Amino acid sequence: MPEPSEMIFAPWSEETVAALSRYQDGPVHPYTCPNEHQQEETRLVATPNGWVCSDDSCAYAQNWAHAASLGDWEAAIRAVLPSATFDDKPEATA
Ligand SMILES: [Zn+2]
Repeated sequence: MPEPSEMIFAPWSEETVAALSRYQDGPVHPYTCPNEHQQEETRLVATPNGWVCSDDSCAYAQNWAHAASLGDWEAAIRAVLPSATFDDKPEATA
């Protein structure tokens, strides 16, 4: 577990939810449910009250995220890789 100062706890603002949702679609490994699912990787969905499992039948909830997940990772990546584009979402085909 990271240090508490590096974490954010729900409830989250709309902006935070939006930022976390962008993070989930980003190049970094998304937050996933720790419970067993048929799908190998079951993502968490950001809500104002925290993460919930994307599987409706699963009750998993999580009220924290890494503060770094709110960062502007697109800008951070562009800084070192100016040609990077973010139109491709390879995991969106599932
Ligand atoms: Zn789950």
